[in-house]
Amino acid sequence: MSGPFRERRVDLGAITENVARLRDLVGTEHVMVVVKADAYGHGAVESARAAIAGGADWLGVAEIAEALQLRAAGVDAPVLAWLHDPDEDFTQAIDHAVDLGLSSLAQLEAVAAAPSSRTPFVQLKLETGLSRNGVAEQEWDAVFARAAQLEAEGRLVVRGLFSHLSNASAEHDREAVALFQRGLERAEAAGLRPGLRHIAASAAALTLPEARFDLVRLGIAAYGLSPFGGSARDLGLRPAMTLRGRVAAVRRVPAGKGVSYDYTYRTERETTLVLVPLGYAEGIPRHASNSGPVMIGGRRFRVSGRVAMDQFVVDVGDLPVAVGDEVVLFGDPATGAPTADDWAEAAGTINYEIVTRLGGRLRRTFTGGAE
Ligand SMILES: *Cc1c(COP(=O)(O)O)cnc(C)c1O
Repeated sequence: MSGPFRERRVDLGAITENVARLRDLVGTEHVMVVVKADAYGHGAVESARAAIAGGADWLGVAEIAEALQLRAAGVDAPVLAWLHDPDEDFTQAIDHAVDLGLSSLAQLEAVAAAPSSRTPFVQLKLETGLSRNGVAEQEWDAVFARAAQLEAEGRLVVRGLFSHLSNASAEHDREAVALFQRGLERAEAAGLRPGLRHIAASAAALTLPEARFDLVRLGIAAYGLSPFGGSARDLGLRPAMTLRGRVAAVRRVPAGKGVSYDYTYRTERETTLVLVPLGYAEGIPRHASNSGPVMIGGRRFRVSGRVAMDQFVVDVGDLPVAVGDEVVLFGDPATGAPTADDWAEAAGTINYEIVTRLGGRLRRTFTGGAE
């Protein structure tokens, strides 16, 4: 293999295909692809464009700064941002036509008072059980009444009403959907007519049809990973990210040799050790010491010993390996590679965290883009 020392390679074609497939599956009028946190590590701007090519007509981010990054790159699709600084100045967001997800009366007043020449578009977020942000049920009527008044005065437009699910169980999610439904009724009674009603992220979009409303917000599934852990192939999805590096050193060692910090691994017999130049600085979980899977020369091995800051070691037995050979940490299982889910299992976490935490000195390359 030639190519970079270490890289995460993102197949933008996979994102486009996944979104198109999910759009068909879900059948809602609108599809939002969530590109927060640098698109779960996949690259926000590139992933946003790939998602739009697959039929997404909305983008979602947590923070306004993330929305402005898309605008600066020339992405002009509708975008919603829903997590704000306590002292947030909403002016720039309004100037750049970023829809604002709002969770309190104070935020509503701040948006109405922002000195922009454009009319703000807001989407009110309702708390329905997750206990994060969102307007609490006992404040719904006051917030709806004030929003309706501001809308009547032409100071803002209430474009949407939304919430988010716990995924604690189907029963919990159904209760939350029912509460959301009551919120919609009370908003309507207050004179609001929000055209975008949404509550489902990937998990509910796939499993709870009554949660789909006008729009679903797809994050993890768009990147080709399952929101439930396990096989995304059953859902017709293809993982977009491949994490790989090149063997930096090879050594033949005798039995009983200690490997990496603390010697938590010892060779059982004469064997070959290879050095892989990715460590926890790149987001490789140290919790995956002695367990994270890799593919070298078409065969599966595990990390041997501790994951260090810059590197880890793999005992490959008698496999003939040379410096520069490819090591795949995870990718598309159709290629025989381990998956982000395998790493999640090895590290005691979820696939979301495995892809999103990557960074450090890792470069990112793209394939399969529309442009
Ligand atoms: C992150 C997020 C999503 C996307 O969730 P997935 O499970 O990745 O589909 C949707 N909505 C909100 C409010 C989020 O914070």
